[in-house]
Amino acid sequence: MPELPEVETTVRGLEPVLKGRRIESIALRRPDLRRPFPPDLRQRLTGARVTGLGRRAKYGLIETDRGDTMVFHLGMSGSWRVDPSEIGIHDHVVIETDEGRRLSLNDPRRFGSVDIVRTDERESLPPFATMGPEPLGEGFGGAYLAAALDGRKAPIKAILLDQRIVAGLGNIYVCDALNLAGIAPGREAGRISRPRLDRLAAAVESVLGAAIEAGGSTLRDYLQPNGELGYFSSKWRVYGREGKPCPDCGAPIRRRTDSGRSTFFCPKCQR
Ligand SMILES: [Zn+2]
Repeated sequence: MPELPEVETTVRGLEPVLKGRRIESIALRRPDLRRPFPPDLRQRLTGARVTGLGRRAKYGLIETDRGDTMVFHLGMSGSWRVDPSEIGIHDHVVIETDEGRRLSLNDPRRFGSVDIVRTDERESLPPFATMGPEPLGEGFGGAYLAAALDGRKAPIKAILLDQRIVAGLGNIYVCDALNLAGIAPGREAGRISRPRLDRLAAAVESVLGAAIEAGGSTLRDYLQPNGELGYFSSKWRVYGREGKPCPDCGAPIRRRTDSGRSTFFCPKCQR
């Protein structure tokens, strides 16, 4: 499932193909993904020039010279492919640029989405309106966490997954960041000391930064045969590593499941 680093890697992979280019055509090969495509999506994008790309939480942003932003989400199984050799049944959106490059949004399970919004209204619309700061942005850090977590009794893991507190963090990187910071996932959020919150904020930045770096080297080193962007293998600290040694203390990593979601943690060095 694509998390923030995969989306960031995808956007970085799309940028050299799309930025500054005119969208010659956009084909919608079915009416919907998770929800219907906007009825005016094709009309607003056809002939528009792409002025910039970006990311907010797990959403990719493609801005045009018409003041629009195409907002995409990769859902559970979505990926963009660059110049695919053929268009298959799971390629639901196909964009062609004025250079003749082709991009396809492939999504077998169709939990993804594509929307179009006015760029100047974007931050005030759902889902962005209620989102907390970007974990790699200016507004995030120990001081921010201290203010946001003050008085909160919920476990720190649940708080970090709450998009209103910090945007775009998923299960994998929350588990890894808590391990790196030495904080138990069930620790009451409002009772974590400021120095430990500083370590936690740094750990979040570190695990995301390492994954984005791994994704970036995928873009540089391999031209994947099917042109697929954004998927790479990360070396996670604890996620998916039940029974394997903790990278800090060597104790076996444990896994706990609550409401269908797994938590991986070290029982020895996470307090
Ligand atoms: Zn440990």
